[in-house]
Amino acid sequence: MKNYDDVIIIGGGPTGLFASFYAGLRDMTVKIIEAKSTLGGKVHVYPEKLIWDIGGQTPILGADFIRQTIKQGLTFDPTVCCEEEVLSIRKEAQHFIVTTNRTAHYSKAVIITAGYGIIQPKSIGLEGEERFKKTNLFYTVPSIQQFAGQRVLLSGGGQSAVDWANTLLHVTDDVTVVYRRQEMSGHEQEIQQLMNSKATVLLNTSIQQLQGEECITSVVVEGEQTKQRQVIETDAVIINHGYERNLKLLEDSNLHLKMHEDYGILGNVFGETSEPGIFAAGDALNYEGKLHLIVGCYQDAVHAVNSAKQYIDPLSEKHEMVSSHNKKLKEKNEKIYATLQ
Ligand SMILES: Cc1cc2nc3c(=O)[nH]c(=O)nc-3n(C[C@H](O)[C@H](O)[C@H](O)COP(=O)(O)OP(=O)(O)OC[C@H]3O[C@@H](n4cnc5c(N)ncnc54)[C@H](O)[C@@H]3O)c2cc1C
Repeated sequence: MKNYDDVIIIGGGPTGLFASFYAGLRDMTVKIIEAKSTLGGKVHVYPEKLIWDIGGQTPILGADFIRQTIKQGLTFDPTVCCEEEVLSIRKEAQHFIVTTNRTAHYSKAVIITAGYGIIQPKSIGLEGEERFKKTNLFYTVPSIQQFAGQRVLLSGGGQSAVDWANTLLHVTDDVTVVYRRQEMSGHEQEIQQLMNSKATVLLNTSIQQLQGEECITSVVVEGEQTKQRQVIETDAVIINHGYERNLKLLEDSNLHLKMHEDYGILGNVFGETSEPGIFAAGDALNYEGKLHLIVGCYQDAVHAVNSAKQYIDPLSEKHEMVSSHNKKLKEKNEKIYATLQ
């Protein structure tokens, strides 16, 4: 006999995890399916960044935010399937079959919280890349401290590259930024900060060669127009050229969900999509007034869960009461209060 969860949540980022928590609050059984080996979503791109704009939260490092978000998301013990890419969603009678690269999962409703798809940093595609990835070629900055006092060369000129360069300057004075265009993009103030800092910024310049045996010892860069080359000695190279997005789930799905003309699934503030029983939330969803921030994910997640609950059981309450009225949380509260005494 097939085991039907109430809801399958596709994507274990901030939205999927909050949806999991909220669905638990609403007595729903939940399965989260995540393509990557760990939960946390895109925030893994910026674990060392301080996030300031989450309500009720003092500045928090991305990595710490991930830890707390996972803890909250697992409050009601959902089933979690990591390293499973959802390839298709099919409707059969009143149920959904969610097929991954490993197996098939069954549920009464689906909430898509897949962000902009599965993202991978764009590779630099130079000789030695695979070898150097094991030593001193980086596509993310897991810990800023590891670069303390080092000569760091960073390639890229978008918002995250500018962010990273400014952050690196807290631990080293020797930062070189190489960017193939004339102007960097991102917040003007942060670009100015970088331009006025100790960093060397080489615009209209790109990396041509990584040199070294086991690790990179120097990099050959070239002027885009001048074609003049120079060799820069370095201890670490960080590449930030944006991300490849795998959107196969939405592009190839036989459900043909209506998509927004800009991007994302076209839906409404209640997380409803063009397909009854399939809801969406967070970066994956788009509607007028959509907030593309973590704070917006939470409202989306609550609406999507409430809509899914009503879809499964039209007689259920439209929404949950405040958390202090929730029976399951009352039991948990007692345990927590006991530890405070
Ligand atoms: C550099 C950067 C800095 C940012 N800074 C801030 C900030 O300061 N404040 C702020 O509020 N927001 C910030 N954001 C935006 C914020 O990170 C996003 O709004 C938020 O992560 C969206 O959460 P999500 O869960 O909707 O999507 P995501 O975080 O993208 O999570 C989606 C998850 O779904 C998984 N997935 C996708 N497709 C599939 C599939 N087919 N099968 C299984 N799993 C799948 C992905 O692997 C991913 O884990 C920033 C974003 C970036 C890139």
